[in-house]
Amino acid sequence: MAIDVVWFKRDLRTRDHVPLLSAILSGRPVLCLFMLEPDRFKQKDTDPIHVNWELDCAIDLSKTLEKSGSSLHFQIGDPVKILEKINNDHDIMRILSHEETGNSWSYSRDKKVLKWCNSKKIEWTEYPNNGVIRRLENRDLWKRERDSRMRIPLNETPTFSKSIIFEGKIPNMGDLNLTPRNLVSRPKPGEDAALRRLDIFLNEDSKKYSWAISSPILSTKHGSVLSPYFTAGVISVRRVVQETTSKINYIRKNRLFIDDYSDWIQSLISFRRRLAWRCHFIQKLEMESNLDLIAQNPAIEEILDRKLDFEKFTRWKEGKTGWPFFDACMRQLTSTGWINFRMRAMMMSAASYNLWLPWRDTGIFLAKQFLDYEPGIHWSQVGMQSGTTGINTIRAYSMTKQGRDHDPKGEYIRKWVPELSMVPTDFIHEPWQMPVSLQELICCRIGIEYPEPIVNELVSRKNGISKTYSARNGEDARRISKKVLQMHGSRSKSRRNIKKNESSIQKKLF
Ligand SMILES: Cc1cc2nc3c(=O)[nH]c(=O)nc-3n(C[C@H](O)[C@H](O)[C@H](O)COP(=O)(O)OP(=O)(O)OC[C@H]3O[C@@H](n4cnc5c(N)ncnc54)[C@H](O)[C@@H]3O)c2cc1C
Repeated sequence: MAIDVVWFKRDLRTRDHVPLLSAILSGRPVLCLFMLEPDRFKQKDTDPIHVNWELDCAIDLSKTLEKSGSSLHFQIGDPVKILEKINNDHDIMRILSHEETGNSWSYSRDKKVLKWCNSKKIEWTEYPNNGVIRRLENRDLWKRERDSRMRIPLNETPTFSKSIIFEGKIPNMGDLNLTPRNLVSRPKPGEDAALRRLDIFLNEDSKKYSWAISSPILSTKHGSVLSPYFTAGVISVRRVVQETTSKINYIRKNRLFIDDYSDWIQSLISFRRRLAWRCHFIQKLEMESNLDLIAQNPAIEEILDRKLDFEKFTRWKEGKTGWPFFDACMRQLTSTGWINFRMRAMMMSAASYNLWLPWRDTGIFLAKQFLDYEPGIHWSQVGMQSGTTGINTIRAYSMTKQGRDHDPKGEYIRKWVPELSMVPTDFIHEPWQMPVSLQELICCRIGIEYPEPIVNELVSRKNGISKTYSARNGEDARRISKKVLQMHGSRSKSRRNIKKNESSIQKKLF
Protein backbone atom coordinates (compact mmCIF):
# COMPACT_ATOMS: atom_id res chain seq x y z
CA MET A 1 0.00 0.00 0.00
CA ALA A 2 1.33 3.45 -0.91
CA ILE A 3 2.37 5.69 1.96
CA ASP A 4 2.36 9.39 2.88
CA VAL A 5 5.65 10.89 4.04
CA VAL A 6 5.56 13.78 6.50
CA TRP A 7 8.81 15.67 6.10
CA PHE A 8 9.64 17.45 9.36
CA LYS A 9 11.93 20.39 8.73
CA ARG A 10 12.01 23.29 11.17
CA ASP A 11 8.52 22.38 12.46
CA LEU A 12 9.46 19.75 15.05
CA ARG A 13 6.12 19.47 16.83
CA THR A 14 2.95 17.39 16.82
CA ARG A 15 0.44 20.10 17.82
CA ASP A 16 -0.92 22.58 15.27
CA HIS A 17 0.84 20.66 12.52
CA VAL A 18 -1.44 20.56 9.49
CA PRO A 19 0.75 18.30 7.27
CA LEU A 20 0.79 15.64 10.00
CA LEU A 21 -2.95 15.84 10.55
CA SER A 22 -3.66 15.74 6.85
CA ALA A 23 -1.46 12.63 6.37
CA ILE A 24 -3.20 10.80 9.21
CA LEU A 25 -6.62 11.70 7.83
CA SER A 26 -5.69 10.21 4.44
CA GLY A 27 -5.94 6.73 5.99
CA ARG A 28 -2.66 5.68 4.37
CA PRO A 29 0.33 4.51 6.45
CA VAL A 30 2.40 7.51 7.51
CA LEU A 31 6.16 7.72 7.61
CA CYS A 32 7.49 10.64 9.68
CA LEU A 33 10.85 11.75 8.34
CA PHE A 34 13.63 13.95 9.72
CA MET A 35 16.71 14.41 7.54
CA LEU A 36 20.14 15.57 8.67
CA GLU A 37 21.83 16.97 5.58
CA PRO A 38 25.67 17.04 5.67
CA ASP A 39 25.62 19.52 2.79
CA ARG A 40 23.90 21.98 5.08
CA PHE A 41 26.51 21.54 7.79
CA LYS A 42 29.04 23.02 5.35
CA GLN A 43 27.06 26.24 4.83
CA LYS A 44 28.73 29.35 6.21
CA ASP A 45 25.75 30.32 8.34
CA THR A 46 25.26 26.87 9.89
CA ASP A 47 26.85 26.18 13.23
CA PRO A 48 26.99 22.85 15.09
CA ILE A 49 24.90 24.47 17.88
CA HIS A 50 22.02 24.79 15.37
CA VAL A 51 22.23 21.14 14.34
CA ASN A 52 22.55 20.00 17.95
CA TRP A 53 19.48 22.00 19.00
CA GLU A 54 17.39 20.66 16.11
CA LEU A 55 18.56 17.12 16.75
CA ASP A 56 17.63 17.36 20.44
CA CYS A 57 14.21 18.79 19.52
CA ALA A 58 13.77 15.97 16.97
CA ILE A 59 14.63 13.36 19.60
CA ASP A 60 11.98 14.89 21.85
CA LEU A 61 9.52 14.81 18.93
CA SER A 62 10.29 11.13 18.33
CA LYS A 63 9.26 10.35 21.93
CA THR A 64 5.94 12.16 21.52
CA LEU A 65 5.32 10.37 18.23
CA GLU A 66 6.00 7.01 19.89
CA LYS A 67 3.35 7.76 22.51
CA SER A 68 0.89 8.43 19.68
CA GLY A 69 1.60 5.17 17.85
CA SER A 70 4.25 6.33 15.39
CA SER A 71 7.98 7.14 15.31
CA LEU A 72 10.43 9.46 13.64
CA HIS A 73 12.77 8.20 10.91
CA PHE A 74 16.19 9.80 11.37
CA GLN A 75 18.14 9.80 8.11
CA ILE A 76 21.53 11.30 7.32
CA GLY A 77 22.35 12.25 3.73
CA ASP A 78 21.13 13.91 0.58
CA PRO A 79 17.31 14.37 0.66
CA VAL A 80 16.78 13.17 -2.92
CA LYS A 81 18.71 9.96 -2.27
CA ILE A 82 16.90 9.37 1.02
CA LEU A 83 13.49 9.90 -0.62
CA GLU A 84 14.49 7.68 -3.54
CA LYS A 85 15.26 4.83 -1.13
CA ILE A 86 12.03 5.29 0.82
CA ASN A 87 10.13 5.31 -2.47
CA ASN A 88 11.80 2.07 -3.55
CA ASP A 89 10.94 0.43 -0.23
CA HIS A 90 7.42 1.75 0.28
CA ASP A 91 6.01 3.54 -2.77
CA ILE A 92 5.39 7.14 -1.79
CA MET A 93 1.99 8.61 -2.72
CA ARG A 94 2.47 12.08 -1.21
CA ILE A 95 5.08 14.10 0.63
CA LEU A 96 3.66 16.62 3.08
CA SER A 97 5.59 19.41 4.74
CA HIS A 98 5.38 23.01 5.83
CA GLU A 99 6.67 25.68 3.49
CA GLU A 100 10.16 26.66 4.55
CA THR A 101 11.55 30.16 4.18
CA GLY A 102 15.24 29.49 4.53
CA ASN A 103 18.50 30.74 3.07
CA SER A 104 19.62 30.44 -0.56
CA TRP A 105 20.88 26.92 0.07
CA SER A 106 17.60 25.49 1.44
CA TYR A 107 15.73 27.17 -1.41
CA SER A 108 17.83 25.40 -4.02
CA ARG A 109 17.62 22.10 -2.07
CA ASP A 110 13.81 22.36 -2.21
CA LYS A 111 13.94 22.97 -5.96
CA LYS A 112 15.92 19.73 -6.41
CA VAL A 113 13.41 17.79 -4.31
CA LEU A 114 10.53 19.24 -6.32
CA LYS A 115 12.22 18.22 -9.56
CA TRP A 116 12.64 14.68 -8.24
CA CYS A 117 8.98 14.55 -7.09
CA ASN A 118 7.85 15.66 -10.54
CA SER A 119 10.02 13.03 -12.23
CA LYS A 120 8.42 10.33 -10.04
CA LYS A 121 4.91 11.79 -10.26
CA ILE A 122 4.84 12.14 -6.48
CA GLU A 123 2.71 14.95 -5.11
CA TRP A 124 4.55 17.27 -2.70
CA THR A 125 2.09 19.36 -0.73
CA GLU A 126 3.56 22.25 1.21
CA TYR A 127 1.34 23.88 3.82
CA PRO A 128 1.60 27.52 4.88
CA ASN A 129 3.87 28.19 7.82
CA ASN A 130 3.04 30.90 10.34
CA GLY A 131 1.98 34.13 8.69
CA VAL A 132 4.29 33.87 5.71
CA ILE A 133 2.51 33.93 2.36
CA ARG A 134 3.96 32.35 -0.75
CA ARG A 135 3.92 33.97 -4.17
CA LEU A 136 2.93 37.36 -2.84
CA GLU A 137 3.87 40.25 -5.10
CA ASN A 138 3.50 43.10 -2.66
CA ARG A 139 2.31 43.75 0.86
CA ASP A 140 -1.12 45.21 0.11
CA LEU A 141 -3.11 42.27 1.47
CA TRP A 142 -0.48 40.66 3.60
CA LYS A 143 -1.59 41.84 7.03
CA ARG A 144 -5.22 40.87 6.55
CA GLU A 145 -4.28 37.40 5.34
CA ARG A 146 -1.71 36.90 8.10
CA ASP A 147 -4.15 37.94 10.82
CA SER A 148 -6.86 35.63 9.49
CA ARG A 149 -4.39 32.72 9.51
CA MET A 150 -3.62 33.41 13.14
CA ARG A 151 -7.30 32.78 13.96
CA ILE A 152 -7.43 29.24 12.50
CA PRO A 153 -8.24 26.79 15.33
CA LEU A 154 -5.39 24.72 16.72
CA ASN A 155 -5.22 20.94 16.82
CA GLU A 156 -3.61 18.89 19.57
CA THR A 157 -1.30 15.86 19.08
CA PRO A 158 -3.11 13.43 16.76
CA THR A 159 -3.17 9.64 17.16
CA PHE A 160 -1.88 7.40 14.38
CA SER A 161 -3.76 4.37 13.10
CA LYS A 162 -1.19 3.21 10.50
CA SER A 163 2.43 4.11 10.71
CA ILE A 164 5.81 2.96 9.40
CA ILE A 165 7.99 2.40 12.45
CA PHE A 166 11.65 3.43 12.47
CA GLU A 167 13.99 0.62 13.38
CA GLY A 168 17.34 2.37 12.93
CA LYS A 169 19.57 4.09 15.43
CA ILE A 170 18.97 7.68 16.48
CA PRO A 171 22.18 9.50 15.53
CA ASN A 172 24.19 11.68 17.85
CA MET A 173 26.50 14.62 17.11
CA GLY A 174 29.49 12.26 16.94
CA ASP A 175 27.82 10.35 14.08
CA LEU A 176 27.57 13.67 12.25
CA ASN A 177 31.23 14.55 12.92
CA LEU A 178 30.16 17.79 14.54
CA THR A 179 31.32 19.25 17.84
CA PRO A 180 29.09 22.04 19.09
CA ARG A 181 30.40 24.51 21.63
CA ASN A 182 28.91 24.08 25.08
CA LEU A 183 26.21 26.66 25.65
CA VAL A 184 25.67 27.99 29.17
CA SER A 185 21.98 27.87 30.25
CA ARG A 186 20.72 26.45 26.94
CA PRO A 187 16.92 26.04 27.16
CA LYS A 188 15.43 22.55 27.44
CA PRO A 189 14.60 21.25 23.95
CA GLY A 190 11.19 20.14 22.69
CA GLU A 191 7.50 20.88 22.47
CA ASP A 192 6.60 20.40 26.14
CA ALA A 193 9.48 22.60 27.27
CA ALA A 194 8.29 25.35 24.90
CA LEU A 195 4.73 25.11 26.22
CA ARG A 196 6.01 25.32 29.79
CA ARG A 197 8.04 28.44 28.95
CA LEU A 198 5.00 30.01 27.29
CA ASP A 199 2.88 29.25 30.33
CA ILE A 200 5.35 30.82 32.79
CA PHE A 201 5.82 33.81 30.50
CA LEU A 202 2.12 34.52 29.98
CA ASN A 203 1.15 33.98 33.60
CA GLU A 204 4.04 35.68 35.35
CA ASP A 205 7.15 36.94 33.59
CA SER A 206 5.33 39.01 30.97
CA LYS A 207 4.07 41.47 33.61
CA LYS A 208 7.30 43.43 33.19
CA TYR A 209 7.90 42.65 29.50
CA SER A 210 7.78 46.19 28.07
CA TRP A 211 9.85 47.63 30.86
CA ALA A 212 12.51 44.90 30.75
CA ILE A 213 13.17 43.79 27.19
CA SER A 214 15.77 46.42 26.35
CA SER A 215 18.04 45.18 29.11
CA PRO A 216 20.33 42.22 28.42
CA ILE A 217 19.95 41.25 32.08
CA LEU A 218 16.19 41.57 32.65
CA SER A 219 15.14 40.31 29.22
CA THR A 220 16.39 36.80 30.01
CA LYS A 221 13.54 36.57 32.55
CA HIS A 222 10.88 39.00 31.37
CA GLY A 223 11.33 38.49 27.64
CA SER A 224 9.64 35.36 26.34
CA VAL A 225 12.95 33.81 25.12
CA LEU A 226 10.75 31.69 22.88
CA SER A 227 12.87 32.40 19.80
CA PRO A 228 14.92 29.14 19.88
CA TYR A 229 11.62 27.23 20.10
CA PHE A 230 10.11 29.12 17.16
CA THR A 231 13.20 28.49 15.06
CA ALA A 232 12.99 24.73 15.58
CA GLY A 233 9.23 25.00 15.11
CA VAL A 234 8.46 23.13 18.32
CA ILE A 235 5.70 25.65 18.98
CA SER A 236 3.64 27.50 16.39
CA VAL A 237 3.35 31.27 16.24
CA ARG A 238 -0.41 30.80 15.86
CA ARG A 239 -0.63 29.03 19.23
CA VAL A 240 1.33 31.79 20.94
CA VAL A 241 -0.79 34.52 19.31
CA GLN A 242 -4.02 32.79 20.37
CA GLU A 243 -2.88 32.11 23.93
CA THR A 244 -1.65 35.69 24.30
CA THR A 245 -5.00 37.03 23.12
CA SER A 246 -6.81 34.77 25.59
CA LYS A 247 -4.58 36.05 28.38
CA ILE A 248 -5.24 39.67 27.42
CA ASN A 249 -9.00 38.99 27.46
CA TYR A 250 -8.73 37.24 30.81
CA ILE A 251 -6.87 40.16 32.38
CA ARG A 252 -9.42 42.63 30.97
CA LYS A 253 -12.30 40.64 32.45
CA ASN A 254 -10.65 40.31 35.83
CA ARG A 255 -8.99 43.70 35.96
CA LEU A 256 -10.52 44.61 39.33
CA PHE A 257 -8.56 41.83 40.96
CA ILE A 258 -5.23 42.28 39.15
CA ASP A 259 -2.56 44.78 40.24
CA ASP A 260 -1.12 46.93 37.46
CA TYR A 261 -3.41 45.24 34.95
CA SER A 262 -3.06 48.05 32.45
CA ASP A 263 0.76 47.74 32.25
CA TRP A 264 0.41 44.00 31.91
CA ILE A 265 -2.06 44.31 29.04
CA GLN A 266 0.22 46.83 27.31
CA SER A 267 3.13 44.43 27.70
CA LEU A 268 1.19 41.57 26.17
CA ILE A 269 -0.02 43.74 23.29
CA SER A 270 3.55 44.77 22.61
CA PHE A 271 4.65 41.12 22.74
CA ARG A 272 1.88 40.14 20.31
CA ARG A 273 3.01 42.91 17.95
CA ARG A 274 6.48 41.39 17.91
CA LEU A 275 5.00 38.05 16.93
CA ALA A 276 3.63 39.84 13.88
CA TRP A 277 7.08 41.31 13.21
CA ARG A 278 8.39 37.77 13.10
CA CYS A 279 6.08 36.96 10.19
CA HIS A 280 6.67 40.37 8.59
CA PHE A 281 10.45 39.89 8.49
CA ILE A 282 10.37 36.30 7.31
CA GLN A 283 8.00 37.43 4.56
CA LYS A 284 10.79 39.66 3.24
CA LEU A 285 13.08 36.68 2.64
CA GLU A 286 10.17 34.74 1.18
CA MET A 287 9.75 37.49 -1.43
CA GLU A 288 13.44 38.08 -2.01
CA SER A 289 15.21 34.80 -1.49
CA ASN A 290 18.78 36.11 -1.75
CA LEU A 291 18.69 38.63 1.10
CA ASP A 292 21.48 36.62 2.71
CA LEU A 293 23.72 37.29 -0.29
CA ILE A 294 22.82 40.67 -1.81
CA ALA A 295 22.06 43.96 -0.04
CA GLN A 296 18.48 45.16 -0.47
CA ASN A 297 19.89 48.38 -1.84
CA PRO A 298 23.09 47.47 -3.73
CA ALA A 299 23.67 51.10 -4.77
CA ILE A 300 24.07 52.14 -1.13
CA GLU A 301 26.22 49.10 -0.44
CA GLU A 302 28.55 50.05 -3.29
CA ILE A 303 29.03 53.62 -2.15
CA LEU A 304 29.60 52.59 1.49
CA ASP A 305 32.40 50.31 0.29
CA ARG A 306 33.02 48.65 3.66
CA LYS A 307 36.14 46.48 3.76
CA LEU A 308 36.99 43.63 6.12
CA ASP A 309 39.63 44.87 8.55
CA PHE A 310 40.81 41.61 10.07
CA GLU A 311 42.02 43.04 13.38
CA LYS A 312 38.86 45.03 14.00
CA PHE A 313 36.69 42.07 13.01
CA THR A 314 38.56 39.75 15.39
CA ARG A 315 38.31 42.15 18.34
CA TRP A 316 34.60 42.69 17.66
CA LYS A 317 33.97 38.92 17.48
CA GLU A 318 35.95 38.14 20.61
CA GLY A 319 34.44 40.89 22.74
CA LYS A 320 37.80 42.63 23.09
CA THR A 321 36.90 46.04 21.73
CA GLY A 322 37.79 47.93 24.89
CA TRP A 323 34.14 49.07 25.21
CA PRO A 324 33.17 47.26 28.42
CA PHE A 325 29.42 46.98 27.91
CA PHE A 326 29.79 45.87 24.30
CA ASP A 327 32.38 43.24 25.29
CA ALA A 328 30.09 41.92 28.03
CA CYS A 329 27.21 41.57 25.56
CA MET A 330 29.32 39.80 22.96
CA ARG A 331 30.67 37.39 25.55
CA GLN A 332 27.16 36.68 26.88
CA LEU A 333 26.04 35.91 23.35
CA THR A 334 28.92 33.60 22.48
CA SER A 335 28.60 31.63 25.69
CA THR A 336 24.79 31.37 25.92
CA GLY A 337 23.71 31.54 22.25
CA TRP A 338 21.13 34.25 22.99
CA ILE A 339 20.91 37.99 23.64
CA ASN A 340 18.03 40.48 23.47
CA PHE A 341 17.02 42.54 20.46
CA ARG A 342 18.55 45.85 21.46
CA MET A 343 21.96 44.36 22.07
CA ARG A 344 21.86 42.51 18.74
CA ALA A 345 21.10 45.80 17.07
CA MET A 346 23.94 47.45 19.00
CA MET A 347 26.35 44.73 17.84
CA MET A 348 25.48 45.32 14.19
CA SER A 349 25.58 49.07 14.66
CA ALA A 350 29.07 48.94 16.24
CA ALA A 351 30.29 46.70 13.41
CA SER A 352 28.72 48.78 10.65
CA TYR A 353 29.04 52.41 11.76
CA ASN A 354 31.94 52.48 14.22
CA LEU A 355 34.15 49.79 12.68
CA TRP A 356 32.93 50.03 9.08
CA LEU A 357 32.86 46.24 8.63
CA PRO A 358 30.87 44.57 5.79
CA TRP A 359 27.44 43.25 6.85
CA ARG A 360 27.79 39.84 5.29
CA ASP A 361 30.83 38.83 7.35
CA THR A 362 29.46 40.22 10.59
CA GLY A 363 26.01 38.79 9.79
CA ILE A 364 27.42 35.31 9.26
CA PHE A 365 29.35 35.46 12.49
CA LEU A 366 26.22 36.49 14.43
CA ALA A 367 24.09 33.86 12.69
CA LYS A 368 26.47 31.22 14.01
CA GLN A 369 26.24 32.58 17.54
CA PHE A 370 22.42 32.68 17.68
CA LEU A 371 20.74 29.47 18.82
CA ASP A 372 17.56 30.99 17.35
CA TYR A 373 19.11 31.77 13.94
CA GLU A 374 16.18 32.42 11.63
CA PRO A 375 17.36 33.51 8.16
CA GLY A 376 14.30 35.66 7.37
CA ILE A 377 14.54 37.77 10.50
CA HIS A 378 18.29 37.70 10.66
CA TRP A 379 19.19 38.93 7.19
CA SER A 380 16.42 41.53 7.16
CA GLN A 381 17.64 42.87 10.51
CA VAL A 382 21.28 42.74 9.42
CA GLY A 383 20.31 44.81 6.38
CA MET A 384 18.36 47.32 8.48
CA GLN A 385 20.97 47.68 11.20
CA SER A 386 23.82 48.12 8.73
CA GLY A 387 22.02 50.86 6.83
CA THR A 388 21.87 48.99 3.51
CA THR A 389 18.10 48.92 2.90
CA GLY A 390 17.69 52.62 2.28
CA ILE A 391 14.22 52.64 3.84
CA ASN A 392 14.87 52.41 7.57
CA THR A 393 15.92 54.99 10.13
CA ILE A 394 19.66 54.77 10.74
CA ARG A 395 20.11 53.40 14.24
CA ALA A 396 23.59 53.84 15.60
CA TYR A 397 23.95 53.08 19.28
CA SER A 398 26.36 54.49 21.82
CA MET A 399 27.84 51.53 23.67
CA THR A 400 28.77 53.68 26.65
CA LYS A 401 25.26 55.11 26.95
CA GLN A 402 23.67 51.69 26.61
CA GLY A 403 25.99 50.48 29.39
CA ARG A 404 25.10 53.36 31.70
CA ASP A 405 21.37 52.89 31.02
CA HIS A 406 21.20 49.13 31.46
CA ASP A 407 24.07 48.37 33.82
CA PRO A 408 24.63 51.52 35.90
CA LYS A 409 26.66 49.78 38.58
CA GLY A 410 28.60 47.62 36.13
CA GLU A 411 27.58 44.30 37.69
CA TYR A 412 26.78 42.77 34.32
CA ILE A 413 30.09 44.00 32.89
CA ARG A 414 32.05 42.52 35.80
CA LYS A 415 30.28 39.18 35.37
CA TRP A 416 31.12 38.77 31.69
CA VAL A 417 34.42 40.65 31.53
CA PRO A 418 36.38 39.35 34.51
CA GLU A 419 39.42 41.49 33.58
CA LEU A 420 37.31 44.43 34.81
CA SER A 421 36.05 42.81 38.00
CA MET A 422 38.03 45.11 40.30
CA VAL A 423 37.28 48.34 38.44
CA PRO A 424 35.38 50.84 40.63
CA THR A 425 31.90 51.81 39.46
CA ASP A 426 32.98 55.37 38.65
CA PHE A 427 35.24 54.02 35.89
CA ILE A 428 33.47 50.83 34.85
CA HIS A 429 32.04 52.29 31.62
CA GLU A 430 35.25 54.13 30.67
CA PRO A 431 38.09 52.21 32.31
CA TRP A 432 40.64 54.01 30.12
CA GLN A 433 39.95 57.10 32.28
CA MET A 434 41.39 55.38 35.38
CA PRO A 435 44.60 56.92 36.72
CA VAL A 436 47.61 54.73 35.96
CA SER A 437 48.25 54.20 39.69
CA LEU A 438 44.75 52.76 40.11
CA GLN A 439 45.18 50.54 37.04
CA GLU A 440 48.35 49.12 38.57
CA LEU A 441 46.79 48.67 41.99
CA ILE A 442 43.89 46.59 40.66
CA CYS A 443 45.96 44.76 38.02
CA CYS A 444 43.91 46.12 35.17
CA ARG A 445 46.32 48.05 33.02
CA ILE A 446 44.61 49.47 29.95
CA GLY A 447 46.36 48.23 26.85
CA ILE A 448 47.72 45.20 28.76
CA GLU A 449 45.12 43.34 30.85
CA TYR A 450 42.21 45.07 29.07
CA PRO A 451 42.43 46.74 25.64
CA GLU A 452 42.23 50.44 24.81
CA PRO A 453 38.99 51.34 22.99
CA ILE A 454 39.31 50.00 19.48
CA VAL A 455 38.37 53.38 17.96
CA ASN A 456 36.97 56.62 19.34
CA GLU A 457 33.34 55.74 19.79
CA LEU A 458 31.82 59.17 19.32
CA VAL A 459 33.88 60.25 16.32
CA SER A 460 33.57 56.94 14.46
CA ARG A 461 29.81 56.78 15.03
CA LYS A 462 29.27 60.31 13.74
CA ASN A 463 31.40 59.60 10.66
CA GLY A 464 29.60 56.34 10.01
CA ILE A 465 26.17 57.95 10.23
CA SER A 466 27.03 60.85 7.98
CA LYS A 467 28.64 58.62 5.30
CA THR A 468 25.57 56.39 5.36
CA TYR A 469 23.13 59.27 5.02
CA SER A 470 25.03 60.69 2.08
CA ALA A 471 25.14 57.26 0.39
CA ARG A 472 21.32 57.17 0.58
CA ASN A 473 21.02 60.42 -1.32
CA GLY A 474 22.44 59.29 -4.66
CA GLU A 475 19.96 59.03 -7.55
CA ASP A 476 20.35 55.25 -7.98
CA ALA A 477 20.13 54.66 -4.24
CA ARG A 478 16.86 56.62 -4.01
CA ARG A 479 15.35 54.84 -7.00
CA ILE A 480 16.13 51.42 -5.50
CA SER A 481 14.93 52.48 -2.03
CA LYS A 482 11.54 53.30 -3.56
CA LYS A 483 11.32 49.79 -5.00
CA VAL A 484 12.36 48.25 -1.68
CA LEU A 485 9.63 50.21 0.07
CA GLN A 486 7.06 49.12 -2.48
CA MET A 487 7.98 45.48 -2.10
CA HIS A 488 8.65 45.16 1.61
CA GLY A 489 7.29 48.23 3.37
CA SER A 490 4.58 47.71 5.95
CA ARG A 491 1.11 48.75 4.75
CA SER A 492 -0.26 49.08 8.25
CA LYS A 493 -1.00 52.69 9.11
CA SER A 494 -1.03 52.00 12.80
CA ARG A 495 2.26 50.16 12.54
CA ARG A 496 3.80 53.08 10.68
CA ASN A 497 2.69 55.39 13.47
CA ILE A 498 4.01 53.02 16.10
CA LYS A 499 7.30 52.81 14.24
CA LYS A 500 7.44 56.61 14.01
CA ASN A 501 6.87 56.92 17.74
CA GLU A 502 9.30 54.17 18.57
CA SER A 503 12.02 55.60 16.38
CA SER A 504 11.63 59.05 17.86
CA ILE A 505 11.83 57.50 21.34
CA GLN A 506 14.87 55.52 20.25
CA LYS A 507 16.52 58.60 18.79
CA LYS A 508 16.29 60.17 22.22
CA LEU A 509 17.59 57.06 23.93
CA PHE A 510 20.63 56.32 21.77
C1 LIG B 1 20.96 41.93 13.91
C2 LIG B 1 19.77 41.14 14.42
C3 LIG B 1 19.66 39.80 14.12
C4 LIG B 1 18.58 39.06 14.58
N1 LIG B 1 18.52 37.74 14.27
C5 LIG B 1 17.48 37.00 14.72
C6 LIG B 1 17.42 35.61 14.43
O1 LIG B 1 18.29 35.05 13.76
N2 LIG B 1 16.36 34.90 14.92
C7 LIG B 1 15.37 35.50 15.66
O2 LIG B 1 14.43 34.81 16.08
N3 LIG B 1 15.40 36.82 15.90
C8 LIG B 1 16.42 37.59 15.49
N4 LIG B 1 16.45 38.93 15.76
C9 LIG B 1 15.27 39.58 16.37
C10 LIG B 1 15.21 39.62 17.92
O3 LIG B 1 16.40 40.08 18.44
C11 LIG B 1 14.87 38.27 18.54
O4 LIG B 1 13.75 37.70 17.91
C12 LIG B 1 14.54 38.37 20.01
O5 LIG B 1 15.60 38.97 20.70
C13 LIG B 1 14.23 36.99 20.57
O6 LIG B 1 13.99 37.04 21.95
P1 LIG B 1 12.56 36.69 22.55
O7 LIG B 1 12.10 35.38 22.02
O8 LIG B 1 12.64 36.84 24.03
O9 LIG B 1 11.68 37.84 21.95
P2 LIG B 1 10.33 38.51 22.45
O10 LIG B 1 10.58 39.94 22.68
O11 LIG B 1 9.72 37.74 23.55
O12 LIG B 1 9.41 38.43 21.15
C14 LIG B 1 8.66 37.26 20.80
C15 LIG B 1 9.03 36.80 19.41
O13 LIG B 1 8.74 37.83 18.48
C16 LIG B 1 9.70 37.80 17.42
N5 LIG B 1 10.46 39.05 17.43
C17 LIG B 1 10.81 39.80 18.49
N6 LIG B 1 11.49 40.88 18.09
C18 LIG B 1 11.57 40.80 16.75
C19 LIG B 1 12.16 41.63 15.75
N7 LIG B 1 12.77 42.77 16.04
N8 LIG B 1 12.06 41.23 14.47
C20 LIG B 1 11.43 40.10 14.13
N9 LIG B 1 10.84 39.27 15.03
C21 LIG B 1 10.92 39.63 16.32
C22 LIG B 1 10.63 36.62 17.71
O14 LIG B 1 10.14 35.50 17.06
C23 LIG B 1 10.49 36.46 19.21
O15 LIG B 1 10.78 35.17 19.66
C24 LIG B 1 17.55 39.70 15.33
C25 LIG B 1 17.67 41.06 15.63
C26 LIG B 1 18.77 41.77 15.19
C27 LIG B 1 18.88 43.22 15.53
